[in-house]
Amino acid sequence: MRFFKCRYFRCLLALALGFLLLFAGGAAAQQSAPGNAMEIYAALKKAELVSLMRAENVVLKRDRGEMTFNGMFYFGAPIGGKVRSAVFIGKGTFRAEPPASLFERENLQRLLKADKVESDFQTAVLRFTDDTYEMLAKGAPPSGGATPEAMKLAAGFEPRMLKETGANISARQLVSIANQETPGFFVAQFDKGERGRFTLLLDYQTRMPVANFDINGGEKGLIFAYRKEMFGNDVWLAFYSLEDYQKRIVSYSDAFDLIAISKFTMNADVREPRKTLRLTVGMDMVSAVDHLRVIPLVINEGLSEYDNDRLKKAMRVKSASLGGGPLDVIQEDWEAGLTLVLPAARKADEKFSAELFLEGNFLRDEAGNVILRGFSVVSLPDCLYLRSNTSWYPRHGYLKRSIFQMTFHHRKQYRIATVGTRVREEFAGENKSEMVTEYRMDHRVAFVTFAMGPFERYAEKAKLQQGGAEIPIEFNSLSGSVMPIKEDFIVAEMTNALNFFSVMFGAYPYPTFSATFHPFGFGQGFPTMLMIPPTDRASKYTYVFVAHETAHQWWGNVVAWRSYRDQWLSEGFAEYSGLLYTARRDRYSSQVELMKWMRDQLNAPPGTELGIGKGRVTDIGPLILGQRLFTRESVNAYYVLTYYKGALVLRMLHFLFTNPSTGDGQPFFDMMSDFVKRHKDGWATTESFMQVASEHFVRTPRQRAERLVHGAAAGGELRQGQERARDGVRAGHADAVQH
Ligand SMILES: [Zn+2]
Repeated sequence: MRFFKCRYFRCLLALALGFLLLFAGGAAAQQSAPGNAMEIYAALKKAELVSLMRAENVVLKRDRGEMTFNGMFYFGAPIGGKVRSAVFIGKGTFRAEPPASLFERENLQRLLKADKVESDFQTAVLRFTDDTYEMLAKGAPPSGGATPEAMKLAAGFEPRMLKETGANISARQLVSIANQETPGFFVAQFDKGERGRFTLLLDYQTRMPVANFDINGGEKGLIFAYRKEMFGNDVWLAFYSLEDYQKRIVSYSDAFDLIAISKFTMNADVREPRKTLRLTVGMDMVSAVDHLRVIPLVINEGLSEYDNDRLKKAMRVKSASLGGGPLDVIQEDWEAGLTLVLPAARKADEKFSAELFLEGNFLRDEAGNVILRGFSVVSLPDCLYLRSNTSWYPRHGYLKRSIFQMTFHHRKQYRIATVGTRVREEFAGENKSEMVTEYRMDHRVAFVTFAMGPFERYAEKAKLQQGGAEIPIEFNSLSGSVMPIKEDFIVAEMTNALNFFSVMFGAYPYPTFSATFHPFGFGQGFPTMLMIPPTDRASKYTYVFVAHETAHQWWGNVVAWRSYRDQWLSEGFAEYSGLLYTARRDRYSSQVELMKWMRDQLNAPPGTELGIGKGRVTDIGPLILGQRLFTRESVNAYYVLTYYKGALVLRMLHFLFTNPSTGDGQPFFDMMSDFVKRHKDGWATTESFMQVASEHFVRTPRQRAERLVHGAAAGGELRQGQERARDGVRAGHADAVQH
């Protein structure tokens, strides 16, 4: 399952694009928030500078960022009663110490060869909803107007942020103002100093770190710099607030979610798939907070800047309604999201429904593309896949669960493959050239995707050993004349793996299981449906791959991960499940060979943007740093640590839970099944896994024997074993605050 977006492309792109304002103009509103949210947005977007002030040794401290300014400040007009923007031109300095986290310090060394972020600058653009203006102006009323240079800086900031991060800063400010968030929001971008252009972001409700950086473990601050070679950002530092560090506890980012979407009702018109995906999305929502006026949603974030994909192929809102009435929506070019502006504020627990109609060139046609099959090259038919499997419809927060009803209108030569149960597949009334296919997913899941092609379905009814349930198992294949695929082999492997894991980790809970031909070099395991390449050759690599993807039904779908720090519970567990299956399906020595290879990868030097780095991958950081382990100086560290080290941590626990005299490993599987049971249809964290593992460990034969022989005070070696097991999980995660 690859939900982590690796924005790592080698091609270059530099195409300056005009920026279109969706809601241009609009006078600066003087009233306080909710009544006129769209006017406030328009004023924020306009970024008009109306006054200036000379700065002499002005010091500004925002969280761990310390800035000094000598030069000229230009301020924006008051919006909603307060000044929300400033531009600085002159000489300034910036400094931020990393938090007390080994990973953050080492990350700075890797990326900047420095022990703190320090730079001079000649320009800065600041946007905020906090008291920054009051801190800077100190009551002295500024006067005068702005220079063309200052106006140019103010105008260039937002379009650049949209393109480089997908974030809409004015929309973020509007959420802060209209929903009456405290503390306020702050972002500053510095330029023309020794570190080039870089940005300090302080988002105390964690919205931008979650939506635009996938950093969702409660981090509120980021310092980052865009790198066009990567089509992405170097995150120099990520940190909690100073207050969080003082308290030594921090909540996960989901504590700041504004809504839950209980149900999606989607209607997809894919009758012109090469041109447009037309999508009507109904969302049944419930407010999680009082004063809810503005709701940010994510969409299109899986599209890269590369080839201007996020600009040209994105799903764009064409119309919207709220309970049948009007609904304002903000969505800009390049934006990795959109914002709903409700006509009136909602209270906590209030339910409401919105409907959006979106269009975009979001499907890619594989017709004529070739893939290698053994020694032959096969030209693909017109199979259509989403450009991003996970960001084609609007969502809120991270891995929130919903039920889905999905209806597809398509031409008759195609079949639709998606998650859940197919409830109808029929001609569209009298029109025999078009069809309507409907699927339902009544279990609450975090993601759905779909594919469309001239699929031929290979279906078998498989009996699951656990409970004797009989469920359909299906492979959406290609015609044998296009590409011979051994469907019976793939379906047999899927069935075997499903049976194997049902016994080990608890009954498979969904009513169907399928896989769909996916002509790319990776697989993804969605609830009830795998997207997999045609892996039909008997080898340990095939077994471990199909079993890994199948195991995601438990690790990722039944039990999701709560933040990027917990993603190893999905990938590492799926990888170890794949090893267990391979040992049974093939032979034990295959598992041993694969594990040796994993260990070798951990001890190998990290790959870098330009070649091979120094040291070992395993020393880049603890596996709970998830996708943050991926940087230009450690391009393979995310994969090797979350997949391989994650699998080896489970291997170690399996060993410790196994009865040394009988070799019985059942206590390990009892623990794993209990872990599934306790987190079913929810989210697990590294800590909650440790809790379950610890509770079960005291009952293992090793631990019981130890107590019996040595009494409670003894057991040094075994207890060390236990500690080591925990360290494998906890390394670098001394507590929630310190990483
Ligand atoms: Zn996976």
